[in-house]
Amino acid sequence: MSKRPLIGILYSDCAVRDNEMRIRTYVSRKYSNAVLLSGGDPILLPTPFTHEINNDEISRLSERYLSLVDGILLAGGEDIHPKFQDEDPIPALGAVNPFRDNFEIIVTKQAYTNSQKPILGVCRGIQLMTVALGGKVHQDISDIASIQHSQSSPRWASSHYIEIKPNSRLSQIADNKIIMVNSFHHQAVKTLPKNFEITAKTSDGIIEAIELKDKNRFCLGVQWHPEETFETDDFNKEIFKIFVNACK
Ligand code: MN
Repeated sequence: MSKRPLIGILYSDCAVRDNEMRIRTYVSRKYSNAVLLSGGDPILLPTPFTHEINNDEISRLSERYLSLVDGILLAGGEDIHPKFQDEDPIPALGAVNPFRDNFEIIVTKQAYTNSQKPILGVCRGIQLMTVALGGKVHQDISDIASIQHSQSSPRWASSHYIEIKPNSRLSQIADNKIIMVNSFHHQAVKTLPKNFEITAKTSDGIIEAIELKDKNRFCLGVQWHPEETFETDDFNKEIFKIFVNACK
């Protein structure tokens, strides 16, 4: 039996106060379930939410985490603060979480360059991966999108089509070139990091998936939420499976 890889999940959808005014950070249980059911063992890697820790300390923490895990999963959540791509915030920017952005950018850069660990980015995760590795995101797509990307249908439902690029990782697990996915975003990838390619788009030209061109390494970002339809949708089940397998 092959060893089950340890998958570090970078999380904290937001920092909220509960009814006793404690601040808790959290992530949907669907990510860790999807990893477990795909043959991996999930572990949560919390963002340090304090100004007391500088980036040298965060780099040390990140190196330690990366020495333990076999791959990282960048979960969904808030908008990326535009300062990380040298822009001012536009009025349509949503809630941001700069502590989380900073931590995840450091971990992602290290995972990509130093330790060369597989990375899967989901929703905010594809955007974070993009910014961390030198690309840019649209702060808001309402002016350029002509289909609904913040879907009105429930989270378990898929809502718009994507077209998958032939000879991509996604094309190997999809039954068809055109498939339907869910959509809960108002930001999207604008320019790619070096060595990446677009592997899925919507009919209005919004980038829905990116991959590293070098298929010997696993680095995949998807703009939809595969963990939401993991149990009912084979394509999304396969996304977690190929990621976990790449971490072995
Ligand atoms: Mn979409």
